[in-house]
Amino acid sequence: MSDCIFCKIVAKEIPATIVYEDDDVLVFMDIGPIVKGHALVISKKHYDPVTETPDQIVSKLHLTAKRIANAQMNGLEADGVNIMQNNGSASGQEVPHIHVHVIPRYSDDGHHWNWNAKKYADFNEMAKLACNMRDHL
Ligand code: AMP
Ligand code: ZN
Repeated sequence: MSDCIFCKIVAKEIPATIVYEDDDVLVFMDIGPIVKGHALVISKKHYDPVTETPDQIVSKLHLTAKRIANAQMNGLEADGVNIMQNNGSASGQEVPHIHVHVIPRYSDDGHHWNWNAKKYADFNEMAKLACNMRDHL
């Protein structure tokens, strides 16, 4: 993907601060950290979204995210870690090349997710959505 910014980072055509790389994945620092130390785990090969990404790559991305979380806890003294992966503009995704955010969290980091929990009208509304998902597993 010649116009993909993350493919350009993989090709070393644009700079990034690399934390780790192997044959499948590249990990670099997010240029706009939600909390300082925020890293991105990307596939070296261009895939998007997660539903179009081979299982072994999805697995590798998340196993690598676990290693990075461990490095943030032990190397950056993080108190916790958020791991997240966006798919589609409706989800807030800006770069359409599969990536996993690994964000170190500190009890005093001042960041709050706008986690505005909703309520179902009743049990049946929730059960119907579960049923619709079950039909497509
Ligand atoms: P998303 O909204 O899930 O697509 O996240 C894209 C992330 O990529 C954002 O957190 C950006 O700050 C980050 N980003 C975009 N361009 C660069 C870049 N050149 N180097 C490092 N991080 C980047
Ligand atoms: Zn790409």
